[in-house]
Amino acid sequence: MTDNVVEQKVELDWVTRLADEVVAEAQHRGVDAPIVCASGISPSGPIHLGNFRELITPHLVADEIKRRGIDCDHILSWDDFDRFRRVPKNLAGVDDSWEQYIGMPLTSVPPPAGSPHASWADHFKAPLLEAMEATGIEVRQISQTEQYRAGVYRDQVLLAMRERFAIDKVLDQYRTLEAAENARQKATGKGKGAGAGGKGPKLTEEQAAAATEAERGSGAASEDDGSEGKAGYYPFKPFCTACGTDFTTVTAYDDDSHELTYDCTRCGHSETVDLDTFTNGKLVWKVDWPMRWAHEHVMFEPSGVDHQSPGSSFVVGKDLAPIFGWERPVGPMYAFVGIAGMAKMSSSKGGVPIPTDALEVMEAPVLRWLYARRRPNQSFDVAFGPELQRLYDEWDALNRKVADGSAQPGDLAAHLRATSTASGLLPATPRPMPFRTIASVIDVTQGDEEQAVRILSELEPDNPVGSTDDLRPRLDCAERWMLGYVPAQDRTIVRTKPDAELLGSLDEQQRESLRLLADGLDEHWSLDGLTHLVYGVPKIQRGIDPEAKVKDPELSAAQRTFFVLVYRLLVSRDTGPRLPTLLLAVGADRVRTLIGH
Ligand SMILES: [Zn+2]
Repeated sequence: MTDNVVEQKVELDWVTRLADEVVAEAQHRGVDAPIVCASGISPSGPIHLGNFRELITPHLVADEIKRRGIDCDHILSWDDFDRFRRVPKNLAGVDDSWEQYIGMPLTSVPPPAGSPHASWADHFKAPLLEAMEATGIEVRQISQTEQYRAGVYRDQVLLAMRERFAIDKVLDQYRTLEAAENARQKATGKGKGAGAGGKGPKLTEEQAAAATEAERGSGAASEDDGSEGKAGYYPFKPFCTACGTDFTTVTAYDDDSHELTYDCTRCGHSETVDLDTFTNGKLVWKVDWPMRWAHEHVMFEPSGVDHQSPGSSFVVGKDLAPIFGWERPVGPMYAFVGIAGMAKMSSSKGGVPIPTDALEVMEAPVLRWLYARRRPNQSFDVAFGPELQRLYDEWDALNRKVADGSAQPGDLAAHLRATSTASGLLPATPRPMPFRTIASVIDVTQGDEEQAVRILSELEPDNPVGSTDDLRPRLDCAERWMLGYVPAQDRTIVRTKPDAELLGSLDEQQRESLRLLADGLDEHWSLDGLTHLVYGVPKIQRGIDPEAKVKDPELSAAQRTFFVLVYRLLVSRDTGPRLPTLLLAVGADRVRTLIGH
């Protein structure tokens, strides 16, 4: 009996399965609550929708554990003591002069010009914090700059230096493996770090490079393991006291006195410091990460594919964590997240979209749903183009299934995780009219909100919209999408004058169809009514009862031909928003004028 229950849970969704695994692992290790789930993000540039997976994956698992009444702590480690690696191209307020900061901690680099934030790190953290607030993601933030500078890791730094030969030995085994893997990848033409740009033509090369850089996050790219020193292996890298960069090489270390000597190749400064008091430096990434697993007692932390190749930090961490008295946490690999439908907008938006961009056009539960419904190892695209309308259709369909009890267990679980956390429900649109309908109305009314709301109220005359608040935030999302993301050539422009030439060229049958439409408008003035009318006109003309359900290819062809005619007369194109929506948005009088009645 109990076995069955467990089996059902395992089938429920990936979050349940991972939470089971983490809870079991904590029991196995005899760890007291709280169970720690970790995210680690480097604020080295825009924190895009791929990086959001680093945050939301542990969030969902931690949230599931909390729902079970188990104390759980989701920590967000800001890798803001990482070095500034490169100056991103095409970033507003940043030019080549930022080259001078390469090698400094991200918290010591000035923000882009015009930023209200104190540092480069703060500037890129801010929008993610905003997105977290909107999506109900609660974390305990930890700044690595603050931790290192405050000497919180002093014992671990001294331990790593003491154990440097053992660490070097572990790393060396993997260096060999990694070299072999690189050779293999070179041979097969399969490089590391396809990044969000791995989706090919959807991002420009420049964006892909930026995305890859950000995706690699915590320094996985040129995973510095501290091996370059000629004077032996040292896992600690100081920032130069004189110039602030990490172009430093440790030349000596005294195990008894903890005195460390370094040379700076950037400014020529040389200095001997005492690691008992010196805190302006950090462990190299591959050692830093397992050290922090141990320090924070991390039980769950996922990572991107770049972290999980042979010789990469997650793999090496398995052997390094025991040196710090811990074991590697449960850590699934998560796949890349791509972007769809941004190509046309990207140049004006300035690069790779971030979560707050997605939240401009998506209700928070919809964004959560995108990540919750896919297993971490499945890649997917976040849609900013026409696919966004289909996404909302799917979401609304799921909500109907949940409401009438017909949703499958997996879908039900994803819906629960999208719409709520252990702390409560996320805000939803009280009256979720179809996104594509709202978008069409905004399209046709050119962003005149008052007019749009009036038309939306007419869609269902029996159930008028009480207040525009009932339509929000979906109304705002649709407005921002239509006005900010839909390219001009895809927008609908309603004719101001009738197309006299086209009207003059119509045959008798076409004129009759327009008369039937014009005569029926007032009586059918609702979304349902007009749907009925526009499909009914070709039926009447063929002598078919408009109420009859008919499957007839010739009728379908006649309906399509009729729709094209109406579109051409209203918007000078063969297609447009759904015809009933378009008619409502244009208004009965103007429709009659444009179709010659
Ligand atoms: Zn220096």
